[in-house]
Amino acid sequence: MKAILDHVGIAVKDLESALQFYRDGLGLEVEQPEDVPSQRVRAHFLPVGQPRLELLVATSPDSPVARFIEKRGPGLHHITLRVDDINAALRQLKARGAKLIDNEARPGAEGSLVAFIHPSSAQGVLVELKQSAVVNQSAIRNLQSAIQRYTVGDLELISVSDGTFRLDGGSMFGVIPKTMWSEKAPPDERNRILLAMRPLVVRGARTMIIDAGAGDKENEKFRDIYGLDRSRHLDHTLAEAGLAPEDIDIVLATHLHFDHAGGFTVRDAGGRLRPRFPRAQYVVRRGEWEDATHPNARTRASYLLDNYVPLAEAGVLQLVDDDHTIMPGVRVRRTGGHTPHHQMVVIESGGQTAAFVADLIPTTAHVPDVWVMGYDLFPLDTMAAKREFVKEAIEKKILVFFEHDPMIAAGYLTEANGKRGVIQQS
Ligand SMILES: [Zn+2]
Ligand SMILES: [Zn+2]
Repeated sequence: MKAILDHVGIAVKDLESALQFYRDGLGLEVEQPEDVPSQRVRAHFLPVGQPRLELLVATSPDSPVARFIEKRGPGLHHITLRVDDINAALRQLKARGAKLIDNEARPGAEGSLVAFIHPSSAQGVLVELKQSAVVNQSAIRNLQSAIQRYTVGDLELISVSDGTFRLDGGSMFGVIPKTMWSEKAPPDERNRILLAMRPLVVRGARTMIIDAGAGDKENEKFRDIYGLDRSRHLDHTLAEAGLAPEDIDIVLATHLHFDHAGGFTVRDAGGRLRPRFPRAQYVVRRGEWEDATHPNARTRASYLLDNYVPLAEAGVLQLVDDDHTIMPGVRVRRTGGHTPHHQMVVIESGGQTAAFVADLIPTTAHVPDVWVMGYDLFPLDTMAAKREFVKEAIEKKILVFFEHDPMIAAGYLTEANGKRGVIQQS
């Protein structure tokens, strides 16, 4: 069992005097308080590095915190350790004779699951175990497995999933300090954050899929490095959408990084690589193809030849030179930045517009201009392309798809008082 210190809880009798010390005296920031009805307390979190302090104020005289203060006065109340699988941790402790206050995990603050261990089993310290909402795997899988359908004029859009993977949080947010990004995307014990892979199916004159996730050709070491979880993947979600690989007419690539193009090819029983969508034409931008087939030391880890060279060999590759209509209502637009020829896809029909922006804005956390990935080869180009697109997206009410966001497939962008936001659309 691995555990990370999440926070230290302090029972508070008089909030004003507590704030005088912690907020005004020490200058700590106090987050918006949150009521925890099951414990009849109001929790005020104060970030102090990665872990936080939690000031606990009873909201009812029969609250456990009220009883604690009555008995011992205000003071150190509990420490909270974050674990990946709280039920497994409870079973393990129980098997070793620990006295549990909660035999089963129950809902805590911020959508987490929590359980308390009796101080008599922990050297007199009340220990709380916590499983963050974000690492609640079954909840995440449910969010992913729910394919999401949208209508744009005459076109049907279906957000599908090829599972999740993990990338270094620092690399995902470039110059943004960890204290800022870790609040939006909590890192695991290897400093990686959870990311989805959400290709988009567009059904109109023809059936198209934009990008295809990581696929399953890679070995155990690769799967471990990138934390690939494909227990529910593209085959499952396509089937849920009523589609088989044979139904896809066009596969469109935003760019050829492995988390977008890995699913373009499969290895057959004889070990040979072949196109994964047997009837499809694969459309790739020529500049991206050139870069991907001639990787350099900086780009080599993301460009894996097995994902796309077999397409040329099979004669199903179609290279496009510039911004172009791929099928009625669907055109590509170069953004550059992430890779020099990275392109987004604009979908327009019946006066409505949607955009599949791929790694221009990979998650909802990347909506502000400066939140640009360290992976981007030309970050200033990303910023310029993003600024222009966000303005257009707000003006035209464009439905924006976030290919890597673990929770939100699509939404509308907003801006108020210089602050950008996303209104989720499901
Ligand atoms: Zn990429
Ligand atoms: Zn990507």
